[in-house]
Amino acid sequence: MSIYDKISKRCEQLYDEAVSLRRQLHRWPEEGFKEHKTSAFVLEYLKNLGIDGIRTGIAKTGIVADIKGAGSGPTIAIRADMDGLPITEKTGLAFSSEHEGWMHGCGHDAHVAGLMVTAKVISELKGELSGTARLLFQPAEEGPGGAEPMVAEGAMDGVDTVIGGHVWGDNKPGEVALKPGPLFAAPDEFRITIHGVGGHAAAPHTAVDTVPILANMLNALQTIVSRRIEPGVPCVVTVGTVQSGYRYNVIADTSLITGTVRTFDPSVQATVKKTMQEICCGIAQSMGASAELEYIDRYPCLVNDGPVTDTMRELAVRMLGEANVVEAKPTMGGEDFAYYLKKAPGTFMFIGSANEDGAYWNDAHHPRFNIDERALLTMTKLYSAAPFWFGGARG
Ligand code: MN
Repeated sequence: MSIYDKISKRCEQLYDEAVSLRRQLHRWPEEGFKEHKTSAFVLEYLKNLGIDGIRTGIAKTGIVADIKGAGSGPTIAIRADMDGLPITEKTGLAFSSEHEGWMHGCGHDAHVAGLMVTAKVISELKGELSGTARLLFQPAEEGPGGAEPMVAEGAMDGVDTVIGGHVWGDNKPGEVALKPGPLFAAPDEFRITIHGVGGHAAAPHTAVDTVPILANMLNALQTIVSRRIEPGVPCVVTVGTVQSGYRYNVIADTSLITGTVRTFDPSVQATVKKTMQEICCGIAQSMGASAELEYIDRYPCLVNDGPVTDTMRELAVRMLGEANVVEAKPTMGGEDFAYYLKKAPGTFMFIGSANEDGAYWNDAHHPRFNIDERALLTMTKLYSAAPFWFGGARG
């Protein structure tokens, strides 16, 4: 029996275990960098597998575990993010969150469970592995970001290839979606503060009212994408909050606009940044006020490596069959897996988890978000097989 048939069989045998681990973790969503319960649960499981190359406390709650194969070969890293979200769960599931106000609303419970079972499968079969499988259990993907400190603390040292994935409601269970090139946007943040002069609402000529200035800016910001960026080039400018004023008869001396910019291309990002600066200062100045723009670069754009994605696609066809391997559609969301891809070539994939039960949502971050758990089987098959495939075993 080939190693890949053994992996498939073992993943199928361990499917129930993957489901029960996921449901256990679903009860315990934790804030980024405070995933203490999750991290301890993972550590205990890894120790019971007899894995000795374990480093804990990486980026506070992160774990890096190396499983060395019998032969020499490349180091293949596989990543799972561990954090939950500040959402009150409304799924009504029997295994709903026990942490009030917190929810595994992005499927990171499935990512952790999938990587735990992957650790078991690889450990059992490591006698046939050439090279090392490195498991990355990462905190705080939802923000402020755990990947960057994981990299800074050595998680990617010596890694030749890195892979990761996300349960994905746009794809059917059993499917995996892959794509070379940009997959997630750079999710930047901006804050515009307008400074005017306060006064009595009945005497506007003695003040500088920031409310009409804010209104002009909101309209002008919407012309960045529509008038300055080439049609067909992906770019989003969204204003998320506006704040002005104190009382109906008081002129607002200050106003604040916050929002996000999403781009794939650094030159487009630079155009947005520059235009936003011109709009803010120009409009404020023309209306007798001043404004400052604070533009914060968050995660980089996530760019999948071409050759690694091709190799992963061949493996996916081997493990799941040609019909279950599809092209991924890029999203304007952000993913801090981008930081690992700056250190080594790799690929991030969408693991189909579309749930057909109308009681639940397929879109992440919704209080009724849920996955089709068969995604766990797809994930464990691909993750478990990857270190063997990239290590040179083709059969
Ligand atoms: Mn997520």
